[in-house]
Amino acid sequence: MEKIVSLCKRRGFVFQSSEIYGGAASVWDYGPLGVELRKNVADAWWSAMVHARDDIEGLDAGILMHPRVWEASGHVSGFTDPLIECKTCKKRWRADHLDDASCARKPSVGPGGHADCELGEPRLFNLMFKTFMGPVEEDASVVYLRPETAQGSYVNFLNVQQTSRQRVPFGIAQLGKAFRNEITPGNFIFRTREFEQAEMQFFVKPGSDDEWFDYWLDRRLAWHHEMGIRADRLRCHAHGRGELAHYAKTAVDIEYEFPFGWQELEGVHNRTDFDLGRHQEYSGKRLLYIDPGSGERYIPYVVETAMGVGRLALVALVDAYREEEVAGQQRVVLGLHPALAPIKAAVFPLMKKFGQPEIATGLLGELRRARIPAAYDQAGSIGRRYRRQDEAGTPWCVTIDGDTAGDRSVTIRDRDSLEQERVGLDHVVGWIRERL
Ligand code: ATP
Repeated sequence: MEKIVSLCKRRGFVFQSSEIYGGAASVWDYGPLGVELRKNVADAWWSAMVHARDDIEGLDAGILMHPRVWEASGHVSGFTDPLIECKTCKKRWRADHLDDASCARKPSVGPGGHADCELGEPRLFNLMFKTFMGPVEEDASVVYLRPETAQGSYVNFLNVQQTSRQRVPFGIAQLGKAFRNEITPGNFIFRTREFEQAEMQFFVKPGSDDEWFDYWLDRRLAWHHEMGIRADRLRCHAHGRGELAHYAKTAVDIEYEFPFGWQELEGVHNRTDFDLGRHQEYSGKRLLYIDPGSGERYIPYVVETAMGVGRLALVALVDAYREEEVAGQQRVVLGLHPALAPIKAAVFPLMKKFGQPEIATGLLGELRRARIPAAYDQAGSIGRRYRRQDEAGTPWCVTIDGDTAGDRSVTIRDRDSLEQERVGLDHVVGWIRERL
């Protein structure tokens, strides 16, 4: 993990928030390469979930919502984690994560492991961030930063269904920030207090929910494979009775084998009619679906797929990281799927003269006009330039050399196979497009 963190900082993927002030705990800023990676994860998800389908609509609901939403959803009373505190060390842990935790003091032992440690009783801690709406800080103006995007989809269920003329089964997808005052954030960007979610709520007829649950679990697993994540590092973990969230009938976590163990990457949940039913009850507004064919009226069941965008970005980085020896030299490579790579192509003039930089910048302009994120580098030996791009995960490097002016062709080097192919200058954009 240290190698990934150090690469992320060195190459501008992720920086600690407010670093010059000593850092803000567990908040991270995505740098130039990181923001592209995260955006690519989000775009790939949106394209698979919304653009590629007729039965899912997009939505972007506000982060702040009516406070009653969170009473109805059960978050005010039930979105809690059990917190345990050591009165001696003053450190706090999640009571259900004690096995993986350690005491703040040396030598390293588990929580409560030193003779004078004194662990208190677990108490429930609500994970929602509170703030105030308007100029007066009083109980009546308390609002919450949303801990999930899902509720925005539920309260807009009929708005979306009616305006898009969808029929059940159909889904609502959202990408957006969520906030949880986690007791023990950590493992770099794995668990943070502010994070971006990619969530989809699929509304189905009660009785068909189990079938749709299986469908979405399969689909989501297949998508992770399509994103190039190694199949042997993915597995499913079905929640047992004690693990299920208050709203769930069934839940399966898609887990990834991180350097710190198997952990959740995405959750697929059968949320039944709990959320819509509760919003109907708390708002007093009918949230019934009327089947236009049969005239049947019912509150749909919901199958949810919920993934953290930063969590998948971390998986992509961990999964893609390789150290290898090439021609007697060590190289660090991020073998990212081209769809996720921040830069798709780098253009190098072999030399800073003989018109090569001009041809290279011309090609760079062509790539940019084709909306292919590309970089230009003319500093240092060609080997060093390759290494820089390997670390950034750039799949292709295009070199303009002494022959280019004459034969109008360039060399394209593949990041993974290291093969070099001679391609006509006018065909570079098409060549890259085909492979993207
Ligand atoms: P946990 O039990 O680990 O706290 P959860 O099961 O409550 O997490 P969900 O509510 O199912 O998590 O959230 C859906 C997805 O959002 C998770 O699979 C994960 O990818 C992401 N996620 C949840 N919490 C965080 C967080 N604190 N930081 C980053 N990503 C998160």
